[in-house]
Amino acid sequence: METLPALAPGVCLTFDDLFVENWRAALPVFAAHGAVASFCVCHLHQATADQLTGLHALQEAGHEIAYHSRTHPKLAPYLERHGLEVWVAEELDRGIEEHRTAGFPATAFAAPFHASTPETRRAVATRFEIARTKGPNGAERGGLAKRVYREPGRGGRVHNIASIDMGRAGAEGWSRLNAALEATAAGQGVSVFTGHDIRRDPGRTRFYLSQADLDRILTAVRARGLAFYTLTDFARRSQKHPPV
Ligand SMILES: [Zn+2]
Repeated sequence: METLPALAPGVCLTFDDLFVENWRAALPVFAAHGAVASFCVCHLHQATADQLTGLHALQEAGHEIAYHSRTHPKLAPYLERHGLEVWVAEELDRGIEEHRTAGFPATAFAAPFHASTPETRRAVATRFEIARTKGPNGAERGGLAKRVYREPGRGGRVHNIASIDMGRAGAEGWSRLNAALEATAAGQGVSVFTGHDIRRDPGRTRFYLSQADLDRILTAVRARGLAFYTLTDFARRSQKHPPV
């Protein structure tokens, strides 16, 4: 039997929503580190021509344009009001079709607000190769090692190990991030991080990091000998390397 080399330990950095202009402006920072990421996009049907061009530029640079629902609704009230069937039709199938028509594969899913139910998880599992599911809150409670993966879990699910919204995170946020990277290197697996905007001016949001923060993160990842994967890339490569 052929012996395959072990999947190199690494990180999936994910950035949510539709901050295309700022993501695109950060392309040189990623390129300087040979880093790729998954940009998990919602509201694609409202994207401007410039935003579509920007998303294609990201994809052509080796990044993934992943799927983050169609309109980013709060899950519980949406399900209460419209039911599961409408959620699947609108927030999965309709938006997936829009992504594919626009030239994006929609093979990875990132749950808005990190929310899911057994029913939505089942629907997601039949449509995507990998599904980023639980948020970083609680990752430390259960032990970071549990969020370091050799392959995606049941239904293609992976949970976040830490946030990379470092804009206002402070020393505690950086120590959390470093602990997550340590756990990833120690576990010799792959872990998933979530961020949003990449911007200079925070405005009122805390869901961002600066290009300097990004540079610091990418430097820290490489310093630990970790590789960069998109979500789908991780899912596909791990299938060639089933756990022993
Ligand atoms: Zn989001």
